[in-house]
Amino acid sequence: PPERYEVLRRRIYSNTKEIWYYVSSSLGSLANEIEDLKQKISHMKTMVDEHYRSLLRDVAKLADVDGYSQWRWKEFDSLSRLVEKRLLHAQNPPDCSKAKKLLCNFVNKHSCGYGCRVHHFIKCLFVAYATERTMIIDNPKNWKFTSGGWEKLFLPLSDTCTSKDGDTVSLWPGDESIQVINYNVPTPEYAPKRLHPPYIPVVLPEDLAGRIKVLHGDPAVWWIGQFLKYIFRPQPSTTILFNEFAKRAHFQKPIVGLHIRRTDKLISEASLHKLEEYMYHVEEYYKLKELNGEYDTKRIYLATDEPTLFDEARQKYPEYDVIGDPEISKTGSVRKRELDDSIININIDIYFLAYHCDYLVCTFSSNVCRLAYAIMNSLQPDASAKFTSLDDTFYFSGQVHRLNVALITHKADNPDEMDLEVGDEIEVAGNHWDGYSKGTNLRTKKTLLYPTFKVTTKIEVLPFASYPNITL
Ligand code: GDP
Repeated sequence: PPERYEVLRRRIYSNTKEIWYYVSSSLGSLANEIEDLKQKISHMKTMVDEHYRSLLRDVAKLADVDGYSQWRWKEFDSLSRLVEKRLLHAQNPPDCSKAKKLLCNFVNKHSCGYGCRVHHFIKCLFVAYATERTMIIDNPKNWKFTSGGWEKLFLPLSDTCTSKDGDTVSLWPGDESIQVINYNVPTPEYAPKRLHPPYIPVVLPEDLAGRIKVLHGDPAVWWIGQFLKYIFRPQPSTTILFNEFAKRAHFQKPIVGLHIRRTDKLISEASLHKLEEYMYHVEEYYKLKELNGEYDTKRIYLATDEPTLFDEARQKYPEYDVIGDPEISKTGSVRKRELDDSIININIDIYFLAYHCDYLVCTFSSNVCRLAYAIMNSLQPDASAKFTSLDDTFYFSGQVHRLNVALITHKADNPDEMDLEVGDEIEVAGNHWDGYSKGTNLRTKKTLLYPTFKVTTKIEVLPFASYPNITL
């Protein structure tokens, strides 16, 4: 379909949400300020909610009736198979002794949990792909999470090439003539800026970015998802474990995935969000379904590191079928206990959130939820609207920045807001989910609020290796 149509359709959808965030949050503050109007405002809020759901449903339906549905799946299939084929090619050179290689370390920082380390791991695969090298794990024994290493649960990155030997060796960045480039600059984000590899998301490959941009509402998420899907290819024994769990848990659809990160995350990295805050968005999901005449059992899949939430959810929401298993949550977020069973359990949660849930409600401050969401987006043309995050917007750990670009001018209404000129670039700090986002305007260098609907995501691209010989 024409690019302009797809971009416009998605913009109307997301700005329908933005106006609802704005109005419903403003009505909430008004009701607190003006006691006498409480009842009237509450009635307005109910009406606005109904308007909102009706609009959102109609815009969502456009994608079913515009005749492009088949195209979307075809394009998704062709793009994802192409990326997979290129990865398989780069990772499986016919002669390992001559292959160009990128040597990568497993990060072994105590403060970095499972999801955090997966993000480090995958960073290296982006650089390997971009420079058409085979990613070799320099220190396989350093994967402390599962005895038996990464390959206990997932397929090896390569079937043909694991040796790090080569005729010439250099530290990153080296140059094209060097056979083995050692990427183990302390760890990239602690290295001097000139050593930061430029190919890390949210930067996209120039040769594919145009196509991904038409297909997907948040191209970087789709791109990251493809790489995660590759590294998380399960071993047959892992597939058996997943299947057993699905049977035991009586997994059924439709289902909303709830990821609730508690325990150690709340010490310094994220705030506590009550179960009710998550469930508010789950309820919205089912209200939209009911508007479509779809009345089904309301179901959630609860993935969490806090086992007591299962009882709480079943008590407070008896009309819901709560799928999941508190035993799976007892991984202990205590990082030193993250071994074998714990890791299998985290992967069960990630897998079911990504592969089997229709919608995700979580906090994107958690690496685990961002992993699940990116994988979910690698499995269908565009799942970029199928989430609610109670805190951060999506980001990639270690990204250089995420930019918004202004489409509409704005005159600040108070000292907390910034002025916008069309074309201004803003480094995003976060969406406040009340109609405003916060960020640093690169023109004025000021960090302030701006109305989210007046900007769009800037898509940054670079020339990556383009694998001209790999065709479908
Ligand atoms: P983040 O802290 O959530 O950003 O991600 P990390 O990868 O740094 O840490 C993940 C930690 O949370 C690990 O200790 C896990 O044990 C635990 N964890 C988080 N979410 C889940 C979940 O849904 N299920 C299980 N079983 N464990 C989880």
